[in-house]
Amino acid sequence: MKRIIFTLLLASLCLTNFSCVKEKPFQFPFFQGMGTLIKTSAVLKNQNPYEILQKIQALVKELENRLSRYLPNSEVSEFNRFPLNKEFIASPTMYELISISLRIHRDTKVFDITLLPVIKIWDYKKGLIPTESAIREAAHKTGSEFLELLPDSKIIKKKLLEIDLGAIAKGYTAKKIAELLIKEGVSKAVIQVGGEVYAFGGEYRVGIVNPKDKKPIYSFIVQDKGISTSGDYERFFNKNGIIYSHIIDPRSMRPATVTAHSVSVIGPDSTFTDALSTSFFILGPEKSFEILKKYSGYSAVFILPDRSVIKSPFFPYPMDEIK
Ligand code: AMP
Ligand code: MG
Repeated sequence: MKRIIFTLLLASLCLTNFSCVKEKPFQFPFFQGMGTLIKTSAVLKNQNPYEILQKIQALVKELENRLSRYLPNSEVSEFNRFPLNKEFIASPTMYELISISLRIHRDTKVFDITLLPVIKIWDYKKGLIPTESAIREAAHKTGSEFLELLPDSKIIKKKLLEIDLGAIAKGYTAKKIAELLIKEGVSKAVIQVGGEVYAFGGEYRVGIVNPKDKKPIYSFIVQDKGISTSGDYERFFNKNGIIYSHIIDPRSMRPATVTAHSVSVIGPDSTFTDALSTSFFILGPEKSFEILKKYSGYSAVFILPDRSVIKSPFFPYPMDEIK
């Protein structure tokens, strides 16, 4: 999906900076999943690449069948049709993602999986500006605070809501592919689900590319981390010189006003980096860094339109400028 600002430099170079020759990664064929391209490279030993690829594809299919709002028979679509005040028994996957989403909603106030009616009327693919009354009407049908999680995987809608997990599901998928590979005995890999990345087992040099010419301008090294980027230049529409992003600010129920060209979040779980990068794109550096205090092990870096960089306090990854 999106604006991929994050290019895995190493995916095309080598899997670690110290053992390129001995451990040449296997690049699995790219495939479509979760509405985007899925790219995996991994150092294989005895594993059969064909079998591993089949397992990755089966896992992605299963997650998509649960989490896609576009598939009419997905669990999310079933939930979206589900009536008011009744107990929906969710799968562990969906329950986990909704509960993480509600936590991030509480912390950021702008991450809201119930914005679907508003997202639909601001469809960046159509490029139309909705009327004030359409915005008001859609806004009435939102509110994460009307989702109640009960024990035993039960969820109740206290308002007729529809959810969209598009800002968190790809990061979750990257993490799940990593878990699968680890289970299969793979020791090093990089997984890219659109703009969401998870890299484990070695040191990985990731690059932030300049949105204008897509050339890397900075890079840094991470290990066992998720890296997610939200930006404004791949999924948006432009009307009379104004950029309307695909990310909605629930405070205005309008596309987020652009404060930065992109924000990347780095941390141990790509599910969280995905949701946080979407939120931080809306909030800008100052508020985001305040929220990060609650997320130990997570860092963020903003790239501004003039190419300058704002890093969260104690940003632990030395950045190299690429000239
Ligand atoms: P991402 O590309 O990960 O930043 O996620 C963007 C996608 O998440 C959009 O295409 C929408 O489907 C959905 N979305 C838009 N605004 C929000 C928001 N404020 N909170 C949660 N999800 C959102
Ligand atoms: Mg996201």
